[in-house]
Amino acid sequence: MLIGFFPSLMALAPELCLFTTSRLGGKSCGAFESLNLGENIGDDPRAVRENRSKVLSTLKISPDRIVSSNQSHGSRIAVVERGAKLKGFDGFATGKSGIATIVSTADCYPVILYSPPERALISLHVGRRGAKAGIIDNAVKLMKDVFKADLRYSIAAIGPGICYRCYSVSRGEGMEFPASARKMVDGSLHLDIKAFIIQSLVMRGLDNKNIIDSNLCTSCTPQLFYSYRRDRGCTGRHWTIALIDRPWGMRERLLDG
Ligand SMILES: [Zn+2]
Repeated sequence: MLIGFFPSLMALAPELCLFTTSRLGGKSCGAFESLNLGENIGDDPRAVRENRSKVLSTLKISPDRIVSSNQSHGSRIAVVERGAKLKGFDGFATGKSGIATIVSTADCYPVILYSPPERALISLHVGRRGAKAGIIDNAVKLMKDVFKADLRYSIAAIGPGICYRCYSVSRGEGMEFPASARKMVDGSLHLDIKAFIIQSLVMRGLDNKNIIDSNLCTSCTPQLFYSYRRDRGCTGRHWTIALIDRPWGMRERLLDG
């Protein structure tokens, strides 16, 4: 159900708890089978409620400590100190322990920035439009200006998203991005959003060795992940959950089991 896809984070930032859900272990049926966490996308609301409460109780996270948003493929990041259900934000920043940020995806990339000295966490939903709108730049600026972080020590973790081989785009969409993010695959134009994310982070001061890539493609891995593109829009959503500090021993137990 939960994928702890960043073992190296345990060494770099043991206080950071970070998980992405897979599609396994839930109650939803059909195209949403089975751990769909997205609401208002055609799935049975009761199944979604059960799925959500299963994830939160497994992680011992109280629902009033979560921060989420309807997400709008924009570049706005909310600075939060308590649980909230927001509108129109695609990123959350917090320095508070125990506040769980939730990014919902099914091809877009969940991107987590964390600066250990300041204990500053920024969670982002990054797709083509958000990347183009500058959400990575906004996050890096926020890390520097609000949290006073030295980016050389900041860590970035990139969760499951659609790989460039699976992501063909129109010429107009492709040309909005630098040549380094454009790839030709079998004669058609493809976009490498992950390469763009990594390049943006490095250009703005992050150290390449502090950028951790899950190397998981949502579209290439139907047994584990939903993919909006592959499933032609009729599909579920995963959560990437990040919080600073966690109940003692929880991560060890999850990895064991
Ligand atoms: Zn792929």
